[in-house]
Amino acid sequence: MDTLLVLLHTEADGSLPKAAREALSAGAETASGLGIADWSVGIVGKGARDAAGTIASCGAKRFLAAEGSDLETPRYGSDAAAAETLAKASGASIILAPATSRWCRVLSGVAHRLAGRPDAHVTALKAEAGKLSVTRWYYRQRFEAVLSRAERPWIILLDPGCQAPWQGAPGTCSVEAVAVAVPGDAKRTTVTGVAAPPAAEQTIRPDAKLLFVAGAGWTKKQPDGQTHAPEAEALILSFITKTQASLGGSKSIVDMSGEGQTTFKFMTHMNQVGQTGATPRHPKGLSTCCHGEEPHVVGWRFVNERRAVNLDPACGWAQGKADVLYVADAFAVMARVNELLKG
Ligand SMILES: Cc1cc2nc3c(=O)[nH]c(=O)nc-3n(C[C@H](O)[C@H](O)[C@H](O)COP(=O)(O)OP(=O)(O)OC[C@H]3O[C@@H](n4cnc5c(N)ncnc54)[C@H](O)[C@@H]3O)c2cc1C
Repeated sequence: MDTLLVLLHTEADGSLPKAAREALSAGAETASGLGIADWSVGIVGKGARDAAGTIASCGAKRFLAAEGSDLETPRYGSDAAAAETLAKASGASIILAPATSRWCRVLSGVAHRLAGRPDAHVTALKAEAGKLSVTRWYYRQRFEAVLSRAERPWIILLDPGCQAPWQGAPGTCSVEAVAVAVPGDAKRTTVTGVAAPPAAEQTIRPDAKLLFVAGAGWTKKQPDGQTHAPEAEALILSFITKTQASLGGSKSIVDMSGEGQTTFKFMTHMNQVGQTGATPRHPKGLSTCCHGEEPHVVGWRFVNERRAVNLDPACGWAQGKADVLYVADAFAVMARVNELLKG
């Protein structure tokens, strides 16, 4: 019979990130599906004990917390030691964790230390007839596979945005403080600050309800024979600021900045969506001045409702890739939308 640990970490302010609550609801469902009554939650980081109280009613039997100054900032050596210690303290054969950058960095190494197996980029878990299987995508989200493993412990990293976050009432629970022996050489690394990508604005918002994609058309000559990059920049920035949408770009537009051509100062390679870019998860997507070619649209795999604005009625979006295509001038459309958003 399997045993389960949901392994979480807190944010710098001591709260649990949304991805942690998503892993928690997946953990509660998995425990119920596998008939595991005494499953555990382990929390690492600043305020871990208090964070346990915020999820006290999730159904876990044990709450393990590892905190202290050595565990406050992400660092391979200390995080790996904490994860390994909590895994051993719980005795779990299945360890489920949110695929945050902090856990993605260490949990494959932890699986090796525990002589277990890791699976990353898991998008769903299914517990049936006492057996657990997980789903993940391969080859840039083109193939979906369902996997199961006999090896234990099995460490599963659940991608954010695949599960509804757990939303129960906070309460009181008994929390077991677990001491972590952080190796001396791990302490050689200290966090001195954060270096953000060279964008004038932070435009990538993974939790946004809307993905707004700008394509190279924004920089091309328009029907009046002129380019209108400054107007395009103002329209896009105004829209994403007002709506707090996440900004994506096609490969063509992000490559322009790399090649030193006129482009938008807030658009970097980090914004690229597609086969050689990101595959973000958002409930809705709006593409503008982007042709909708397959290497780009493959990055929209997890965008549920897709709309596009393009002057060309025969563009890729019209070939079954968008739910709605507005055959229109994106400059005019976005100017009107921004006007409406004012009120
Ligand atoms: C191996 C490989 C990997 C690739 N990976 C990626 C990837 O990860 N992501 C990606 O995006 N691409 C990728 N590509 C490139 C992809 O095939 C396309 O070349 C690219 O997506 C085109 O970008 P675009 O649609 O922005 O520009 P364009 O093809 O130049 O299209 C611009 C569009 O804007 C429209 N337009 C112009 N003005 C207006 C206006 N006023 N109003 C409305 N519409 C207007 C035009 O009608 C046109 O359809 C890859 C290609 C290869 C070969």
